[in-house]
Amino acid sequence: MPSPDLKSLRARIERINLHLLELLSQRARVVLDIHALKRRQGIPPYVPEREQEMLARLTASNRGPFSHETVRRLFREVFRASLGLMERQQDQTYRISRGRRRGGFTFAVGGQTVGADPILIAGPCSVETPEQMERVARRLAALGVRFLRGGTFKPRSSPYSFQGLGVRGLEILRDVGRRHGLVTVTEVVDTRAVETVMRYADVVQIGARNMHNYELLREVGRGRTPVLLKRGLAATIDEFLGSAEYIAAEGNERVILCERGIRTYENQTRNTLDIAAVPLLRQQSFLPVIVDVSHAAGRTDILAPLACAALAAGANGLMVEVHPAPAVARSDPEQQLDLAQFRRFLDEIGFPWQPSPRRRRRPASRASPAIGPATCATRRASTAA
Ligand code: PEP
Ligand code: MN
Repeated sequence: MPSPDLKSLRARIERINLHLLELLSQRARVVLDIHALKRRQGIPPYVPEREQEMLARLTASNRGPFSHETVRRLFREVFRASLGLMERQQDQTYRISRGRRRGGFTFAVGGQTVGADPILIAGPCSVETPEQMERVARRLAALGVRFLRGGTFKPRSSPYSFQGLGVRGLEILRDVGRRHGLVTVTEVVDTRAVETVMRYADVVQIGARNMHNYELLREVGRGRTPVLLKRGLAATIDEFLGSAEYIAAEGNERVILCERGIRTYENQTRNTLDIAAVPLLRQQSFLPVIVDVSHAAGRTDILAPLACAALAAGANGLMVEVHPAPAVARSDPEQQLDLAQFRRFLDEIGFPWQPSPRRRRRPASRASPAIGPATCATRRASTAA
């Protein structure tokens, strides 16, 4: 029989390639079905022993010409690609993924709506005295600010620095918040304190240093109080989203993501505000995103432009530190605005912001990110002119 010519052999190879591709794609689809089934049944996605068994069966059936070792190598590559596929599917099925709530996401806390028009959270770094909190709260309420922050459990770099007033601080924050009708926000640093902090505060904050504290994330996820989750000092956006998912996975989806700057080599600011994080987070998750300009900058003189940039990038709100006497503050004295500076800051960002017209009140979807208050943009443009 005449041997087939080169052209027809090559044509056969092409057909086999296509056939192999079709089989690999079929296999990948089955892998995804198995993964989805396992997720529903709570079975771990990856079982290394099963891979070993499959490899053993494959080599037992191998008649050559490839060596057993080559067959093992080829199939290990197929297994690795399947695992990658499962991990991607896992990411895409995060509860906090944008795709899960295409219509947007808002929630109410203390009579305020989060996730639609931008919110402003202000207050001192730490709760220090009832008088200090009263002075700030009275001013915030008079200026139309509705969220009051203040740390009572402080995660400080040195164990000898002021650690916060603890439960006494929670009482002060709650009382002053009630007196002035403000929504209170304070940090929790310990799983054992979550229940207590949730009893006192309207929103619990997980600070940057605890973004990777998965037990703490799970614990606040089991509560019913909204959570303000700060981005870790050196956390990637994926890690940040993963941490938010830890909270949501336990049932509490009322999470606010807070970009607060990340560590870089730059030393003129305390951290580097990652503006790109705002549209990226909003693109990938339906959770509201706010920007803490104070911890990003670590100084008081550039907060307004940073705030305007955040709003223009689509942030759902801002956080800023305000203290009646920053020079004697027990934490972060260099970055807190005094009451007069706060007033000027509000002017520069055009606060109070006009609510957006009713038809645009829907929370912005990925396709149409919320643009910051027009007054802020206009003011910045006129300052530049
Ligand atoms: C804070 O907001 O009080 C705080 C400590 O901020 P961060 O966790 O972002 O450093
Ligand atoms: Mn602070």
